[in-house]
Amino acid sequence: MIKPLKIFVYSIACLLPLALEAEKAIRLADCLANRQVDYKAGQREARQATRLPRRTVNQEKINLIESVTVQKNVIKIEINEGFKKKYLLGDFFAQYDKDINLEPLDYTIQIMPFIMNVVSIVWISGRDYYIDAMDEELYASLEKVKEVFRRMYKKTSWQGRLIPRKLVKNTAPFSSTDRSENQYLALLFSGGLDSTASSLYHRHKKQLLITVWGHWDLPLHDEKLWNIRAEQLRDFGREYGHENAFIKSNYYSFLNRPVLDKISPEISSWRIFTVEGIGWAGLAAPLMLLKGYPELRHASTVTWDFKFPAAANPFVDDNIHFSGCWLKHDLFDMNRIEKCAFIADLCKKEQLSIPQIRVCEEKIVGNCCKCQKCVRTILELIVIGEKPADYGFDISEEAALRKSKEFMDKHTTGYTTVWHFMHMQELLAQRKARGEKIPQDLEWILSVDLNKKITKDIKFQDTINWHDFADLLPDIIIPTKKS
Ligand SMILES: [Zn+2]
Repeated sequence: MIKPLKIFVYSIACLLPLALEAEKAIRLADCLANRQVDYKAGQREARQATRLPRRTVNQEKINLIESVTVQKNVIKIEINEGFKKKYLLGDFFAQYDKDINLEPLDYTIQIMPFIMNVVSIVWISGRDYYIDAMDEELYASLEKVKEVFRRMYKKTSWQGRLIPRKLVKNTAPFSSTDRSENQYLALLFSGGLDSTASSLYHRHKKQLLITVWGHWDLPLHDEKLWNIRAEQLRDFGREYGHENAFIKSNYYSFLNRPVLDKISPEISSWRIFTVEGIGWAGLAAPLMLLKGYPELRHASTVTWDFKFPAAANPFVDDNIHFSGCWLKHDLFDMNRIEKCAFIADLCKKEQLSIPQIRVCEEKIVGNCCKCQKCVRTILELIVIGEKPADYGFDISEEAALRKSKEFMDKHTTGYTTVWHFMHMQELLAQRKARGEKIPQDLEWILSVDLNKKITKDIKFQDTINWHDFADLLPDIIIPTKKS
């Protein structure tokens, strides 16, 4: 008697995902056909077709957004009290430059800066939250990104849903002009090594360099620091012929990170593991539409060879589309030392001025030359034969070498830092194998046992195989892993 019951239960379990897919397909097909579709009607129809149980029966429909206020270049979002109390430290705001007027934009674009910074919280909340409307392309994108997260963080539940009552088809105002000819590029720009390399890599395109005031290293309360940093970023724009755009927002500080960082053992740093490019694309969206930049690039930090998951990767970024615009992860095939070499070679070859790079982890104007990020960047530059002082590191080569050796002798450090050191070690070992002379000052790098330097920051992380994600971005070419 038990066996038929088991088979029945198993059959139902197998059919459920198919039914859910059918619901999604019907909903999206409706939206594509009608442009603006009553979401509830779509769901009702889907339920009848698939005989799905009504998941939210007798359940209060919770609005994620209490109110939206748009005044010229500022948007303020009052957030559902319960949601805010559980996951956030306050309401949300974003303030754009004075030449920006958000008022004519569709509601679905005005709310993008907010929803794209909280959507992963909604997913992990296990609940349904409603919003009045969402951009149709963004809705389809976020469904894909959610699936990427499901596969990246398998031990974490992603049952919550952000449900729009209506999907809206927005069309970029510049789609029929030369703006869509791939000559205009918006770039998330911090002035660090990765975004500087990306800017120089795409130097022949007209760039909009977007920087957000409000990240952990540029706190909102420190206006003096921001003004100096903003001027340095403008200097870069002027030097290389690009336009700067700035956004002031509490997108980082409104997250209750002590709470969010503890929700899942797989996610030890909420923003790094579940937001990154999604959130920045949301903040950049109104700017891109108003200034006519259909493509946004997000410079990579690691490469295909990095073994562990984080939100900054092509499967998250390249799946983000909205209103005729898109996000793209940039230079995921170039590691940090290769980026240093690219910048150095390019500046020599094309006689460009050497960029001043700011990588420091301290909340200061320049580089402290002491933190792990300064130390490894200085060392990377020395390894490729460059002078760190030329790039904005106020330290002699002798002192830099002494400090970096001391750092590696005394400290254990996170996996990512060790991974970057491994590339320096590999490069020097390759040179030695080819019979090239290694400067005596750098010999010590070859003898460091880097595996002993790794802290336990990755102990709950599963390794990643990007081939398992290939169906979520069919056009991408995933390199075969090096053995
Ligand atoms: Zn530093």
